[in-house]
Amino acid sequence: MNIEFRKLPSVEEILSDERIERLIVVGYPRPMVANLVRKELESIRRQITNGEKCPELPDIVTAVVIHAEDVVGCSLRPVINATGVILHTNLGRAPLSDEAMAAMHAVSMGYSNLEFDLPTGARGSRQTHIESLLCEITGAEAAMVVNNNAAAVLLGLSATAKRKEIIVSRGQSVEIGDSFRIPDVMRQSGAKLIEVGTTNCTYAADYENAITPSTVGLLRVHSSNFKVVGFTHEVSIEEMVAVGKKHNLPVFDDQGSGCLLDTKLYGLSEEPMVQKSIDAGVSLVFFSGDKLVGGPQAGIIVGKKEYIARLRKHPLARAVRIDKIRLAALIITLLHYVKGEAAYRIPVWRMISATLPDIDHRAQVWNTGTNGLGEIIDGRSMVGGGSLPGGTLPTRLVAFKGETGKKGAAFVLKLQQTLRNYQVPIVGRIENDVFLLDPRSVLPEDDENIKNILYEVTGKLLNLF
Ligand SMILES: *Cc1c(COP(=O)(O)O)cnc(C)c1O
Repeated sequence: MNIEFRKLPSVEEILSDERIERLIVVGYPRPMVANLVRKELESIRRQITNGEKCPELPDIVTAVVIHAEDVVGCSLRPVINATGVILHTNLGRAPLSDEAMAAMHAVSMGYSNLEFDLPTGARGSRQTHIESLLCEITGAEAAMVVNNNAAAVLLGLSATAKRKEIIVSRGQSVEIGDSFRIPDVMRQSGAKLIEVGTTNCTYAADYENAITPSTVGLLRVHSSNFKVVGFTHEVSIEEMVAVGKKHNLPVFDDQGSGCLLDTKLYGLSEEPMVQKSIDAGVSLVFFSGDKLVGGPQAGIIVGKKEYIARLRKHPLARAVRIDKIRLAALIITLLHYVKGEAAYRIPVWRMISATLPDIDHRAQVWNTGTNGLGEIIDGRSMVGGGSLPGGTLPTRLVAFKGETGKKGAAFVLKLQQTLRNYQVPIVGRIENDVFLLDPRSVLPEDDENIKNILYEVTGKLLNLF
């Protein structure tokens, strides 16, 4: 018998170690910890069989603690987004209104008439709850909702263009982040992508010249995360519809952000609006629920009855359907638009429309907690989330410059890292060695909390630097 095996501690021995006991005291379930201990011992047994030595008890305990923290500690949790990017995809995009959250709560606590027609007692469709609302807001004939916009585009093209040709401008054949590439989604759907024009210029005639007997439609894609400047030409949605009409072809519009309010009223550049595309005669518009709509993750499709009917009947529709909880939140978010209260009830629009004096006041409050290390400067916030490329809003920032030189840069990095690893992480951004916190993308309810966290963290760092 290999002598190393005799050095192996028992499960009980490890469980009674002080560090393991502490894990259990702070709420790690005992059976889970015991299971991790057994797994660790098994792996050590294999190592010994392979000729390795038995590790010391403290090292075994460390390995178990790390595994336990991996299982429980890395879980999804709230973060304060002080980056100034309102629709931050990595931070979960749109925060929801109180009313939308209440609706999710209500529908998830028990049962609902999700697919049940109460007047007749017959089977219903989950889409009926939201279709008229979407038609009312956008002016479309028909509508449906799926899991997210990528799924909406995939379903749309699968149901209309499989083994057929769809014409898209080369300048719009884009990657929108997280490796979502329009050409790849089109390939998945079985549609054949015909790119026309050049990267910077596409004309109506380019679409016309590419039409063949296999063409089933023209597709516009909103180049949501970049802007081509200089010598450019894009075909307007109205012109595309005119070309489509002439050849009896539908126009599809992947808008991405899906704007329902006029961004120009908020000091931003013009963003394509869903209503305008429907007005122009587009057959299907695809957009996200959690970008400028300001609701939960969802893919919204509005347009002509005959096309929506084809999408609904496609087998993929079932595979990409929306769940009841997000459906409930989306309905209430859309109701804010119908009631004309979107700009002040929907958090992303409240953030977009926040005034400079208001943001300045909040920055002042935060800065009272920085132990004199912060200062307030002018800056720009971004809408983000694949909307308004290049569009920014003026803001006021709490800035930490540290001192000039190496010590300053080290302080700035340490502050960023400490705040990011706080129990309630605060995420900011660094620009030219300056750490910046932007109140625009933060819910005002968090202001007092942020001030207190800043006070504690900067107080500790003052002693270190
Ligand atoms: C964001 C975006 C998508 C994907 O939407 P998700 O809801 O994230 O799936 C598709 N197309 C465009 C143009 C986008 O901007």
